[in-house]
Amino acid sequence: MSEAIRKSTAETYENKEVVLDVKDLRVYYETPKGDVLAVDGIHFKLYEGETLGLVGESGCGKSTAAMGILQLITPPGRIVTGEVWLDGSNLLAMSEEELRQRRWTKLALIPQGAMNSLNPTMRISQQIRDVIETHEGKKRGDDIKQRILELFKMVGLPGRIYDMYPHELSGGMKQRVCIAMAIALDPMVIIADESTSALDVVVQRVVAQTMLRVKEALGVSMIMIGHDMGLMAQMVDRIAVMYAGHIVEIAGVEELFYKPGHPYSQLLIESVPSLTERKPLKITEGITHDPRNPPPGCIFQLRCPFVMDECRRVKPPIVEIRPHQQVACHLFKQQEDGSIIDVRDIATNP
Ligand code: SF4
Repeated sequence: MSEAIRKSTAETYENKEVVLDVKDLRVYYETPKGDVLAVDGIHFKLYEGETLGLVGESGCGKSTAAMGILQLITPPGRIVTGEVWLDGSNLLAMSEEELRQRRWTKLALIPQGAMNSLNPTMRISQQIRDVIETHEGKKRGDDIKQRILELFKMVGLPGRIYDMYPHELSGGMKQRVCIAMAIALDPMVIIADESTSALDVVVQRVVAQTMLRVKEALGVSMIMIGHDMGLMAQMVDRIAVMYAGHIVEIAGVEELFYKPGHPYSQLLIESVPSLTERKPLKITEGITHDPRNPPPGCIFQLRCPFVMDECRRVKPPIVEIRPHQQVACHLFKQQEDGSIIDVRDIATNP
């Protein structure tokens, strides 16, 4: 594992302020056969200066959760319930105008596909200028040019792209333009939605490092969405693991990689290829449930190698199994003295 892995979460986040607090967020998509429960009651906190990774397989609800936080869900999707607290206000209780004022200034997005988010008919400088002037009003030409060139410098872009159009830039440069746009108004929180997944591995690493450098320089908090566990290990402080619209584990990077608690997290970690060790690809057996009709009890029961009778009946509560490591799984039981035991240990050491 890389040197870049952070200190334990306990050391890093003790006494930090919560900047974003997501409570019971549910986003459903309407279909002719019933609602798809894309995000089904997630809770998490993001701390000051923290980078939180949101990981899970395709379709697990990571991007939908991000769009829900940003209030960018469009029909047939809808936010069913939840609270998203940022800077003392619940975003889900705000008018469109109140939200507009907070986008870019408090909460910014680095989108999944830079090409689709940049306007192909506008010069790069004009697109960044629009973001700034929409919130701050018209600026003098020289002032705004200087500010945009500063932003380019921060994300490692040359000044010559100022008058260029998106099609004249490489994929990595376009993604950096999106980063420049996201930091233009000095937000509190940036959500990076699979921002490097469309790039080749070398450019991916460079862009990811740019994000991290800019984030450190500005002291902003970040949610980084992705499925590349190796990249996540080097980029984030804590990881929230999502499965079928639920967060099944939240832990510091070290805790998650060395002592994953939830069986799904264990399988995800085992699927990370090793450079030094040849090992067969780990396959998760079982089938996924119908997302319109999840089973009662644990959401992972149809694929879990440790499934028990209780898992089919009772939804597991999220419990802290170690400091700063929370897991939703019946394998972990709280004892009368408050300690946590893993029932597999009892089975092997009765
Ligand atoms: Fe597996 Fe049961 Fe834990 Fe769910 S609650 S992950 S089915 S052991």
